[in-house]
Amino acid sequence: MIQLKNVSKYYPAGFGKTYVLRNINLEIKEREFVSIMGPSGSGKSTLLHILGLLEEASEGEYVLGETPVLKLSEKKRTELHRTSIGFVFQAYHLIDELTVYENIETPLLYKGQSSSERKSRVADVLDRFNIVAKKDLFPSQLSGGQQQLVGIARAIVAEPKIIFADEPTGNLHSEHAQQIMELFKELNQKDGVTIVQVTHSEANAEYGNRIIRLKDGWVENA
Ligand code: ADP
Ligand code: ADP
Repeated sequence: MIQLKNVSKYYPAGFGKTYVLRNINLEIKEREFVSIMGPSGSGKSTLLHILGLLEEASEGEYVLGETPVLKLSEKKRTELHRTSIGFVFQAYHLIDELTVYENIETPLLYKGQSSSERKSRVADVLDRFNIVAKKDLFPSQLSGGQQQLVGIARAIVAEPKIIFADEPTGNLHSEHAQQIMELFKELNQKDGVTIVQVTHSEANAEYGNRIIRLKDGWVENA
């Protein structure tokens, strides 16, 4: 599902380069639930952003599904991000001016689904996550845990095969965190969604089947 070959990411620094990721070789198979761990500054977010099509690698090869991502234009990459994957952010990243319903609907608009298709998909997800009563509220009217439920609802509404999550429970109390991790586990086991999360929490990592450890931009194990 995911293949990285000799992927590096650097930023210009004076006359040289500062490497954030070096020669990453990685394979993630369909239906895996992988956790990326490592100290702050080790490159976890950068790696997840590259995998999730939010940033481009500087060197190497990245194949997502059948698509050689690094050969795409930025426009095509953004389009692929919007239509084929789900991305969950630590700080939710909901659109403040849109209701819960409208936030969840956005990926379906990007996909060009008809209004009746959108209605039925959003209704299904609201129902599954038990947030029907919140549908006309704005993000600021919700607790953190509820906002993250909406963030995940938005990530899965278009039924992507893979979800990337950047410390999805980093802003939540442990009770809500557990609830969110149970949800990812269910999406992985029941719906067969591949999940790649960045986490600082060993407890969160235990929900997955494999840990990738980063240190100073290198993969310590793969
Ligand atoms: P975290 O606290 O999640 O480990 P960081 O504090 O390392 O995150 O980075 C927060 C954000 O700031 C990241 O999105 C990163 O791209 C950006 N950033 C971090 N370091 C630099 C830098 N030296 N120059 C420019 N942007 C940076
Ligand atoms: P982590 O998520 O593991 O905390 P990051 O991927 O956020 O690590 O950052 C890894 C390193 O890359 C950090 O040292 C950070 O300062 C650096 N970095 C991130 N973004 C930028 C940027 N835009 N310009 C320069 N350095 C950056």
